[in-house]
Amino acid sequence: MHHIVGIHEWTGNAKFHRCSHERVIDGEDTTLYLVQDSPAFSALKSVVAARHVLKALSQLTKFCHTGQLEVFHSCLLKYCPKRQHFFYEGIYVKLIVIIVQLLCCGMVTSPL
Ligand SMILES: [Zn+2]
Repeated sequence: MHHIVGIHEWTGNAKFHRCSHERVIDGEDTTLYLVQDSPAFSALKSVVAARHVLKALSQLTKFCHTGQLEVFHSCLLKYCPKRQHFFYEGIYVKLIVIIVQLLCCGMVTSPL
Protein backbone atom coordinates (compact mmCIF):
# COMPACT_ATOMS: atom_id res chain seq x y z
CA MET A 1 0.00 0.00 0.00
CA HIS A 2 3.04 2.28 0.41
CA HIS A 3 4.15 2.21 -3.23
CA ILE A 4 0.80 3.28 -4.65
CA VAL A 5 0.97 6.54 -2.68
CA GLY A 6 4.60 7.20 -3.65
CA ILE A 7 6.27 5.95 -0.46
CA HIS A 8 9.09 3.55 -1.36
CA GLU A 9 10.83 3.17 1.99
CA TRP A 10 9.17 2.73 5.37
CA THR A 11 9.65 1.45 8.89
CA GLY A 12 7.54 -0.69 11.15
CA ASN A 13 7.61 -3.91 9.17
CA ALA A 14 9.67 -6.90 10.29
CA LYS A 15 10.70 -8.14 6.83
CA PHE A 16 10.28 -5.45 4.21
CA HIS A 17 11.45 -1.87 4.52
CA ARG A 18 11.51 -0.71 0.89
CA CYS A 19 10.11 -1.52 -2.55
CA SER A 20 11.94 -4.09 -4.66
CA HIS A 21 12.38 -1.74 -7.64
CA GLU A 22 15.36 0.55 -8.08
CA ARG A 23 15.54 3.58 -5.83
CA VAL A 24 13.40 6.50 -6.92
CA ILE A 25 15.20 9.80 -7.18
CA ASP A 26 13.18 12.76 -5.94
CA GLY A 27 12.21 15.06 -8.79
CA GLU A 28 12.81 12.48 -11.53
CA ASP A 29 9.80 10.29 -10.81
CA THR A 30 6.90 11.28 -13.08
CA THR A 31 4.60 8.51 -11.92
CA LEU A 32 1.14 9.58 -10.83
CA TYR A 33 0.44 8.10 -7.40
CA LEU A 34 -2.79 7.91 -5.45
CA VAL A 35 -3.27 10.38 -2.65
CA GLN A 36 -3.25 8.69 0.75
CA ASP A 37 -6.69 8.65 2.41
CA SER A 38 -8.39 9.73 -0.82
CA PRO A 39 -11.62 7.94 -1.85
CA ALA A 40 -9.70 6.02 -4.55
CA PHE A 41 -7.06 4.90 -2.06
CA SER A 42 -9.71 3.85 0.45
CA ALA A 43 -11.60 1.88 -2.21
CA LEU A 44 -8.45 0.09 -3.33
CA LYS A 45 -7.42 -0.64 0.25
CA SER A 46 -10.84 -2.09 1.05
CA VAL A 47 -10.45 -4.55 -1.84
CA VAL A 48 -6.77 -5.46 -1.44
CA ALA A 49 -6.78 -5.67 2.36
CA ALA A 50 -10.08 -7.53 2.66
CA ARG A 51 -9.76 -10.42 5.08
CA HIS A 52 -11.05 -13.04 2.63
CA VAL A 53 -8.51 -11.89 0.01
CA LEU A 54 -5.61 -12.05 2.46
CA LYS A 55 -6.74 -15.50 3.61
CA ALA A 56 -6.93 -16.77 0.02
CA LEU A 57 -3.53 -15.24 -0.74
CA SER A 58 -1.82 -17.56 1.72
CA GLN A 59 -3.15 -20.54 -0.27
CA LEU A 60 -2.07 -19.12 -3.62
CA THR A 61 1.41 -20.62 -3.64
CA LYS A 62 -0.07 -24.07 -3.10
CA PHE A 63 -2.55 -23.60 -5.93
CA CYS A 64 -0.12 -22.18 -8.49
CA HIS A 65 2.80 -24.54 -8.00
CA THR A 66 4.51 -24.91 -11.39
CA GLY A 67 6.89 -27.78 -10.63
CA GLN A 68 5.25 -30.24 -12.99
CA LEU A 69 5.18 -27.73 -15.83
CA GLU A 70 8.88 -27.01 -15.28
CA VAL A 71 9.66 -30.73 -15.42
CA PHE A 72 7.73 -31.01 -18.68
CA HIS A 73 9.54 -28.03 -20.24
CA SER A 74 12.90 -29.39 -19.12
CA CYS A 75 12.16 -32.75 -20.73
CA LEU A 76 10.79 -31.04 -23.84
CA LEU A 77 14.02 -29.06 -24.29
CA LYS A 78 16.04 -32.26 -23.90
CA TYR A 79 14.30 -33.97 -26.81
CA CYS A 80 13.33 -30.90 -28.85
CA PRO A 81 16.10 -28.29 -28.63
CA LYS A 82 15.03 -24.82 -29.68
CA ARG A 83 17.85 -24.44 -32.17
CA GLN A 84 16.77 -27.44 -34.21
CA HIS A 85 13.86 -27.59 -36.65
CA PHE A 86 11.41 -30.48 -36.44
CA PHE A 87 8.48 -31.30 -38.66
CA TYR A 88 5.04 -31.56 -37.11
CA GLU A 89 5.01 -35.37 -37.13
CA GLY A 90 8.37 -35.46 -35.34
CA ILE A 91 7.27 -33.02 -32.65
CA TYR A 92 3.96 -34.86 -32.22
CA VAL A 93 5.68 -38.22 -31.65
CA LYS A 94 8.29 -36.69 -29.33
CA LEU A 95 5.57 -35.02 -27.27
CA ILE A 96 3.76 -38.33 -26.87
CA VAL A 97 6.99 -40.06 -25.83
CA ILE A 98 7.79 -37.29 -23.33
CA ILE A 99 4.31 -37.37 -21.81
CA VAL A 100 4.32 -41.18 -21.51
CA GLN A 101 7.80 -41.09 -19.99
CA LEU A 102 6.85 -38.46 -17.41
CA LEU A 103 3.61 -40.24 -16.51
CA CYS A 104 5.36 -43.62 -16.17
CA CYS A 105 8.11 -42.16 -13.98
CA GLY A 106 5.53 -40.40 -11.82
CA MET A 107 7.23 -37.06 -12.46
CA VAL A 108 3.87 -35.56 -13.42
CA THR A 109 0.31 -36.54 -12.71
CA SER A 110 -2.44 -36.78 -15.25
CA PRO A 111 -4.99 -33.95 -15.10
CA LEU A 112 -7.73 -36.53 -15.76
ZN1 LIG B 1 7.88 1.67 -4.77
